[in-house]
Amino acid sequence: MSRFNRSNYFARNPRRRVAQSDDVVNQISSELCLPEQKITQALRSMGISFHDKLDMSDLALYKELVCCKYGILKPYVIEDEVFKQELDNQLKGFDEVYVDTAPLIHEDWFMSFIANVEPVLRRRRKKLVILEKTMEELHGLKNNSEKDRDVRLRAQVRPILIRALAKKGLVKIVDTGSIGIADDHLISLFRKRGKQKDILLITQDRELSERVVLLQEKLNKNIEIPHYSFFDRLFKRHFIDEDIKRKVIACKLIEGGTLLRLYVCPRCLDSYYDKLEECEGFVICSSCYYDLKEEETLKKVLEDKKEKENEVKIEKKREELFEILTEKEKVKNQTSVGRRLKRRRRIIRAIIAIVLFIILAILYYILLK
Ligand SMILES: [Zn+2]
Repeated sequence: MSRFNRSNYFARNPRRRVAQSDDVVNQISSELCLPEQKITQALRSMGISFHDKLDMSDLALYKELVCCKYGILKPYVIEDEVFKQELDNQLKGFDEVYVDTAPLIHEDWFMSFIANVEPVLRRRRKKLVILEKTMEELHGLKNNSEKDRDVRLRAQVRPILIRALAKKGLVKIVDTGSIGIADDHLISLFRKRGKQKDILLITQDRELSERVVLLQEKLNKNIEIPHYSFFDRLFKRHFIDEDIKRKVIACKLIEGGTLLRLYVCPRCLDSYYDKLEECEGFVICSSCYYDLKEEETLKKVLEDKKEKENEVKIEKKREELFEILTEKEKVKNQTSVGRRLKRRRRIIRAIIAIVLFIILAILYYILLK
């Protein structure tokens, strides 16, 4: 990995140090293999004074500015196949990739992004799209005294790189007029183009990203489903309705030039950044996910409790029923015993009556004789 690493630099140089401007120029020259004169020329053109001593903590910034001015991207290339594959996967699904103003000047992240994404753009014949309006905003920022010095310097030099990239066919600069702010231009452009194209917007602006998520939802609800012939539908799988859904996605650029996508949680309506996945923009956030899981567990506990109570009730009823049946059986048994005794008594009485009748008949017969 041969890219600049400011954090390592500060770790090695914890205190602010000043150095002779010649030393700074010399160091940049040797690292970039450029003549010192070109380094001095580039820095002077950005208004960096060489009369005073230069702050060594700005060394990475000066190197970045020089690289940007001369379109040198090699120091930012990350030689990591997994990373390259991830970038390719992230970008291959989009027809158009737009870059907003802030990611262009936020640290050196755009330098890392373009350096590593260049082969992907070439291989897949894609271009980054930057609005003329964004270029105007950069122009405004370079003269804005309220902004930090590094922001002003980057805003001054990035347009040079962007125009150079446009000449190389890696960037397309689109003119959408100059009225209003770039955010509104992007949204109105996506409203039109999002019906036919899959769009990725790279922006650091959370509010704009949320607008993009809402726009995708609206576009996919009101999408006009084209009419295809029976044979087209039969033989071309990509005409199936779910594939007609369009992607209009917003990502922010992070350190190292990688992307994080903005999602909106449909439960709490908060937005959050996460890995760029192939899905819709409304995805439940981790906090709501755990809340729901907890609610689900609680619901399960209550259901189990209710089920147990029901079981106890059923068992009790069963016992009561059993008791009633036992009692009935007992009564029935007692009744049948009583009946049997009564019948036996009747039989005995009948036998006694018959015997008495026979005895009386015999006595009568004897007496008559
Ligand atoms: Zn949530």
